[in-house]
Amino acid sequence: MNKFDDFLKKAEKIIELTKEDQVKEYGEVYEVKDGVALITGLTNISFGEVVQFENGIKGYVIDIDVDKIGVIVLGDYLGIKSGDKVYGLNYILSIPVSDEMIGRVVNALGEPIDGESDFKNTKLYPVEKIAPGVIKRKSVDTPIQTGLKVIDALIPIGRGQRELIIGDRGTGKTTLAIDTIINQKDQDVICIYCAIGQRNSKIAAVIETLKENDALNHTIVVSASATDSVSLQYLAPYSATAIGEYFMDKGKDVLIVYDDLSKHAWAYRQISLILRRPAGREAYPGDVFYLHSRLLERACRMDQKYGGGSITALPIIETLEGDLSTYIPTNVISITDGQIFLETDLFNSGIRPAVNIGLSVSRVGGAAQTKAMKKVASKLKLDLAQYREMAAFSQFESELDEQTKNFLNRGARLTQILIQDKNNPYSLAQQVAVIYAAANGLLDQFSVSDIKKVEEKIVNYLNVNGKKWLEKVNKNKTFDEKDEAELKKLINEAIL
Ligand code: ATP
Ligand code: MG
Repeated sequence: MNKFDDFLKKAEKIIELTKEDQVKEYGEVYEVKDGVALITGLTNISFGEVVQFENGIKGYVIDIDVDKIGVIVLGDYLGIKSGDKVYGLNYILSIPVSDEMIGRVVNALGEPIDGESDFKNTKLYPVEKIAPGVIKRKSVDTPIQTGLKVIDALIPIGRGQRELIIGDRGTGKTTLAIDTIINQKDQDVICIYCAIGQRNSKIAAVIETLKENDALNHTIVVSASATDSVSLQYLAPYSATAIGEYFMDKGKDVLIVYDDLSKHAWAYRQISLILRRPAGREAYPGDVFYLHSRLLERACRMDQKYGGGSITALPIIETLEGDLSTYIPTNVISITDGQIFLETDLFNSGIRPAVNIGLSVSRVGGAAQTKAMKKVASKLKLDLAQYREMAAFSQFESELDEQTKNFLNRGARLTQILIQDKNNPYSLAQQVAVIYAAANGLLDQFSVSDIKKVEEKIVNYLNVNGKKWLEKVNKNKTFDEKDEAELKKLINEAIL
């Protein structure tokens, strides 16, 4: 036997010994509460590793302390009692992912919960993953068309971007996200709707809306409702991202909606308090920033060399009385590439989507906006900004000069044109047409209250008589002088 063989033999022996040691090492449950278990005696364990309790239920390590580790229980925690034995399984928590998931509803562990067949062809994907580094990424250059005029024109979102949807209760946050999913029907984007801590009835309503609008066929719903344990609620967005990564790795474009991360932070706070971690601001643990940054950092656009796929993230955050300066909103605002701010006052005054244009921003989407939209939206943006300024000042003024009045009127019409019904997405060409009409004064002759009706007229007319024009602009995504002349003619015919 030569020296090398000798060395190998010895090494094998050592490995075997360690293996045995690992099997022999078991910990004991110290206490269980609300789906979280504290365990003593397990020393050889790492963050994210799966452990198994005596009764077969599995858990997942989320906290490592000097003498205890914290585990969230993936299953019925009522069957676990203190003193039970626990083994480390030596692998990081992964969930099954599969093409068959499209059109289905799954839980935070990737298991189907819609009562239909199990997934046959699955792959395992880790729930937590380090986000791709800069070398693997590419800058955002393709838009995600939301189908909403106000977003696509003023706050455009690019594939691979993270755009926050933020607002008080009932301001249309979910509707905005769902409308975006509906609009991906023919755009070759796989959508994932991740529901966290919501009432079951609300999740059912979302699924129903998706079905009605023929949008479930390109969507996966990951659901951890308010009745699920906090551990599943905590896990859900990471699982949804793992599913997204599976498709991104295949070169697909993916859109993930996290509805909502406020409730995700609550779930994490609850877990942390049970783990007796020191509570910080608003009783959240100190690492709550990391909770969301490591999640949203996984959204990106991959370079062509690495498949060219992308994950676009639309996290949702709920505010109280429009206050953006509380802990979780400020955190997530600083992590994302922009925010869409929805306001109760606007919503109640009938401006829906209730987007506050002044406070909303998209930091990268402009680079991804189509040429056609850029052309019509630049004027709109400027006019609206001036309108807001003037509207604020004109409140103190009793007599306004003609020019200011005209400007205010134009602004009021532009505001009307950005109003859009729910579940009624516009194609790029339709958006270009109505925005062009309003921004170029073609609608100035109508009263503000008639604008919606006139808009409908234009859209209907184009759908019948301007089919060719619509198809051309949708296909080329440009808007040249010839298109403009033709559109002008069509609009004038429509509003005659
Ligand atoms: P929550 O905070 O409860 O989750 P939310 O901010 O997600 O609420 P939604 O549930 O999307 O708000 O919307 C609240 C209500 O407003 C719903 O009844 C929805 O149908 C209606 N709504 C939202 N957007 C529009 C719109 N563009 N046009 C008409 N109605 C709308
Ligand atoms: Mg909602």
